[in-house]
Amino acid sequence: MKVTTKLLGLIGFPLEHSLSERYFNERIAREGYDFIEYRNFPLESIEELPELLELFPEICGLNVTSPYKRSVMKFLGDIDSQAQEVGSVNTITIGRQEEELILKGYNTDIVGFEKSFVPLLEPHHTAALILGTGGAARAVAYVLQKLGIEYRFVSRRFEQDKDAILYSNLDEQTIGNFKIIINATPLGMFPQVNLYPPIPYDYITSEHLLFDLIYNPKQTKFMEFGQDRGAKVSNGLEMLYGQADAAWDIFRDWGCME
Ligand code: NAP
Repeated sequence: MKVTTKLLGLIGFPLEHSLSERYFNERIAREGYDFIEYRNFPLESIEELPELLELFPEICGLNVTSPYKRSVMKFLGDIDSQAQEVGSVNTITIGRQEEELILKGYNTDIVGFEKSFVPLLEPHHTAALILGTGGAARAVAYVLQKLGIEYRFVSRRFEQDKDAILYSNLDEQTIGNFKIIINATPLGMFPQVNLYPPIPYDYITSEHLLFDLIYNPKQTKFMEFGQDRGAKVSNGLEMLYGQADAAWDIFRDWGCME
């Protein structure tokens, strides 16, 4: 019988779309860590986090998904410098010293995105539109900046500090100037698979690269519309694996596998 002495898990809401639980539990089984279990912890509010950690003292590490990647930061005593710069955390290590909790935050979306994105690039891919302005969009922007790729955010609303383009202002010239389009919104994610970002797909060409951070379903409408016009497309599955593997290394180095 499996006796679980260490718990890893995912917080966010909702969590039905997530493949993390399966991915981590398969790796746990493959590597023979029969005392560890990875569980989904759907929290309706991030304010439930302290109670969760009290209820499950065996939790050693957590992944964080939408919509808590920013709001979780106020609970963390320490935040790694990259995550701090991006302003978003998707991995937390948890320690306990007497009564005190020691929480440190990291962002592995950065390395996950970079690893899956770079192999797709061609010389004409020099400028990108990032659809959405949330946690994942900020990790994407961090990587683009590092790679020297010009980028603009696209948003549903105008906010002075974000300098984003409104969807309604995307025209032929803009789509022509930005040969990379990255969907960092939840539009098209299971179960709402018929939704897609409202961009003018007619102007997409075979020179475009459409990268969807969504991995469930594997082929989104956004990708389908791009493919119909000859664009190179990718879903977020490799990114998911990349960020999960980097989180695994953080959990291991923290001692969760001992
Ligand atoms: P988030 O923090 O909730 O942000 C999503 C952004 O999308 C929002 O800031 C918003 O930007 C825009 N948005 C939200 N609802 C929208 C709607 N109905 N119509 C148009 N735009 C909308 O989520 P996130 O954590 O950044 O994640 C975004 C997506 O990336 C999710 O689908 C998530 O599953 C995926 N993701 C995948 C991976 C991976 O490993 N593959 C990793 C991280 C995230 P505006 O308000 O500015 O429009």
